[in-house]
Amino acid sequence: MENKASDLTAMLTKDWQSGAAKNITFIVTKDCQLACKYCYLVGKNEKERMSFETAKKAIDYILSNRTLFHQPAVIWDFIGGEPFLEINLIEKICDYITAELYRLNHPWFTNHMFSFSTNGINYDSPKVQNYINKYYHHLSIGITIDGTKRKHDLNRIWKGEEERGSYVDVVKNIPLWLKQFPGASTKVTISTADIPYIYESVIHLFSLGIHEVNINVVFENVWYPSDDIRFEEQLMKLADTIIDDNLYIDNACSFFKEDIGKPLDPVEDNHNWCGAGKMLSIDAAGNFYPCTRFAAYSLREKKPIIIGNVRDGIDQNKLRPFLTLDRTTQSPQKCIDCEIASGCAWCQGENYDAAETDTIYQRSTAICKMHKARVRANNYYWNKLFRKLELEGKREEFELNRPKHQSPIC
Ligand code: SF4
Ligand code: SF4
Repeated sequence: MENKASDLTAMLTKDWQSGAAKNITFIVTKDCQLACKYCYLVGKNEKERMSFETAKKAIDYILSNRTLFHQPAVIWDFIGGEPFLEINLIEKICDYITAELYRLNHPWFTNHMFSFSTNGINYDSPKVQNYINKYYHHLSIGITIDGTKRKHDLNRIWKGEEERGSYVDVVKNIPLWLKQFPGASTKVTISTADIPYIYESVIHLFSLGIHEVNINVVFENVWYPSDDIRFEEQLMKLADTIIDDNLYIDNACSFFKEDIGKPLDPVEDNHNWCGAGKMLSIDAAGNFYPCTRFAAYSLREKKPIIIGNVRDGIDQNKLRPFLTLDRTTQSPQKCIDCEIASGCAWCQGENYDAAETDTIYQRSTAICKMHKARVRANNYYWNKLFRKLELEGKREEFELNRPKHQSPIC
């Protein structure tokens, strides 16, 4: 049972990375039990909940426009706030999607996933568990846990209770989650206050049985002068332990990737970093966005960018600027010429929010020194690992059995 689900996940993840799967996101609620300190969602509230009628109109529009939605596969994403707060609605939406895909003899019937990123708090509730049993073969669920208790509780606190961290409420559900989805990964976000805890947190997550830790620094301009040095020290320590204790055999931490820190070809590597515009997000009012990061609740400084709605469909004129985004048109010269550009990410929504004007064509480089520190540690990691493997005569074996993990950053 697990294999079928993970095969489908792997296949769709591959399709998604190659741009072949359509990603459609329902913002089902803007409410959450937690009030994480680093959360970029500035407009969370309990009122904006999606109705089934709105979701149904969106699905009808999407499924009746095969020319626009021609991709061979689809990932239906449910986000919040906390999506599982709306489990009744989600089940109804999934029932409807499945029935319609069958009725229409749609190619997505055999090629779709329902995907969730959850805080994990009500993962073990009977309603969520019934849903998981029902749709198991089409599910991809990520639970966010930030690391050790002190790291997790630093940021992930209960709403209205500054002193109450959520670690114990989440960690209790990790064994059940891993039993149901053994290859599951978690996503960790690092801001300036989290730097001292990176090492202990990644090691802790591996010890919980989470073999893939996707970790990234926030894109916002929050970094203090010595943060890059402290960051590098943590990553070097982490590299030493992963290699010395042979943790690299079963685990992967996305800070260390062989292909980062290299120059990029202005023609061959001229693609946009993320899928903004190729994806579609729908909110409770029935508005369409190029990504949830362009909805009002995600933006600090700018107005939302709405590219259509469930009644009128997508306005191609509003979508077009997103489809022509690439690396060179939005990057400053220093990034185009950068010798270590590969793996240096950006978030289209943050670019827009941080730009001096209302443009999406101005790349924010707030993470520049953090990427440089990561590259230095990454070089250290691979040099050390390959030297060890050569000395032990295990290089060939490693190449054959490389962990298949490592998901995109967003
Ligand atoms: S932000 Fe800095 S590290 Fe990243 S590509 Fe630009 S110059 Fe290079
Ligand atoms: S990087 Fe930002 S804009 Fe791009 S898909 Fe992720 S949240 Fe959306």
